[in-house]
Formats: sequence, C-alpha cells, structure tokens
Amino acid sequence: MKDVKTICPVCRHTENTALLALHSYPIYQHPMANTSTIPLPHTIDLEYLICDSCAHAFQRSYDRDILEKIYSCHYYTPAPSGVGATFRNDFIHFIKHQSPINKDNAKIFEVGCSSGEILSELKSLYPNAEFSAVEPNEETAIAAQKNGFEVATEFFTTKYSQTLTNKFDVIYSRHVIEHIFDFEDFFNATTQVCHNKSQLILETPSLDWATENSSTMAFHVEHVHVFSERSLVTLAQNYGWFKEKKCITSSGNLIVSFSRTGSNKNLPTPPHNQTGLQSRNQLLSNKIQNICKDKQVIFWGAGIGAVTLLALSKLYQLD
Ligand SMILES: [Zn+2]
Repeated sequence: MKDVKTICPVCRHTENTALLALHSYPIYQHPMANTSTIPLPHTIDLEYLICDSCAHAFQRSYDRDILEKIYSCHYYTPAPSGVGATFRNDFIHFIKHQSPINKDNAKIFEVGCSSGEILSELKSLYPNAEFSAVEPNEETAIAAQKNGFEVATEFFTTKYSQTLTNKFDVIYSRHVIEHIFDFEDFFNATTQVCHNKSQLILETPSLDWATENSSTMAFHVEHVHVFSERSLVTLAQNYGWFKEKKCITSSGNLIVSFSRTGSNKNLPTPPHNQTGLQSRNQLLSNKIQNICKDKQVIFWGAGIGAVTLLALSKLYQLD
C-alpha cells in the first residue's frame, strides 16, 4: 500500500519545498540472519519535502506494508550492551535535570521500549515506580520481558490503548514518532492513557541539528518524518500537549517534554539554513560523480555514510 503525501501531515499546509532526494537507498538496514528470504526490491528512491509553514520534513511517498514488516520482523535484534549508550545517557540526563519525576510511585509507560535499556536505567533511578511498555518487535520485546518488565508485543494504537486500565504519570517514546503513519491514532492513544498531570516526553532526530550540520543521518526509509522543533511542538499542540522543556543533544536528537496544562505559546522558529542541506549535498554529489565518471568503483565495507553519498550522487545500485 503506497501512501503519497503532498500536504503537510502535521499542519495540513499545502505548500512544500523539495528538501532531499536519495536514489536507490537500501530498505533493510539492520543485521539479519538470512537475507535470502526477503523479497525484492531491496532499495527504494526516497524524496523528502519540507513544509513551508511548520518546517516539517516528510517523505513524499512510502510503502506502509514494507515498513510494518520491517518493524515486526526485520528490526533491531537486541543490541549488545554499550550500543546506543550516548543516546540513552542524553535521555536520562534530560529526565534527571530538566524533567524529573517527582512522584515516588509514578506509573511510567514507554512506547517502543526495544530491549528495555531505558526502563532498566529509570528503574534504578526510581525504584518505587511502576513500569510497563509496548514494543512491536517480538525478539526485542522478549529481551525486555526477561529483564523483568511488563511488555506487550504491540504497536501503540488507540485500539490497543483502550485495553489498558492504567493512567500513566509519564509516557515517553524515543525514536518512534518519526516512524508513525497516523498521528491522530498515536495521540488519541496517549490521551487514552494519560491524566491531566501526566507528562509526555518525545525523542526524535532533530531537523534543526541536521540542517545546521548539513547531516543526512536522519533521512532513511524508516523515517517517514524528520521533525523540526517547530513541527513537533505544532503537532503535539494539535492534540492538547504543550511544550515544557527541550534539548537538542550533541548527537543530533531533539528531546521535548510536554504537559496537558500549558497553553499555546509562540512556536519555535524554523531551522536556519534549510538550503544548506541541499547545497552541501549537491556539491558532494557533483564531486563524487566527477571522481567516479567512467570508472568502476568498489567501496569496501562501506557504511551508511558512504551509501548515502552514493544515493545522493545516483551512482548506487544495490540489486
Ligand atoms: Zn506543516
């Protein structure tokens, strides 16, 4: 099922600008036991637009069926300890210093808990809190359950949230919102499980950081959205969540906490230098095309950075 978006999925604005195109980009990016069982194609052309109003970057079209299959079956195997530690440390630092949990027996819910690494760290900080979570990937959900957490192998949908009887004091998700197809369903699910003093904390790759640093790291097949602070705050406000604290980490992630009791404030300014991302990548693409012209080139052990450069320069063909 192919979804084509020409209006902004956050603010419904109809005027958008081309932001970035990645040609023949790899669809499957996580380690897998046996790739021979995965049907072709293994690559896809990605095209990102940016909303002229709320500065939200989004894929012009994506294949929902492929993505849902990735999340259920081809996603992160439980990560070795130490992998992703910087991201986790940044998130825990944000909670401790900017958005502390003041209730001793708080009910805490994670959307997309992976193997339960953050749950474990929060448990050591808040030993009297109650924890639960959802994680659609079976293998990682089992890993989190083995660590003693109550984890349902589910996507966080309104339908699922209606089966929960708890109202949570803190609902958080890290690197989930940029994958969401249906914002209305996601936020209705949060409404179902919150009360009027709950806080919601979202972490996602920062478009402000990406444009500032001319980085394409946040742009890949699974990220149907790349949020600016302006677009994330706009989206949350639409569903009655108001920005409290925010941080953009040195690794390029945006973390924002929201409450139900705030009010509409001035929206954050759009990212500066949006054209910098395009012009730098156009320059790189031209250089690579010149270097590789009429040559056969092998990139030995090329990581995602090199693959992205090749996708920008349209020289890359995986299949
Ligand atoms: Zn918009």
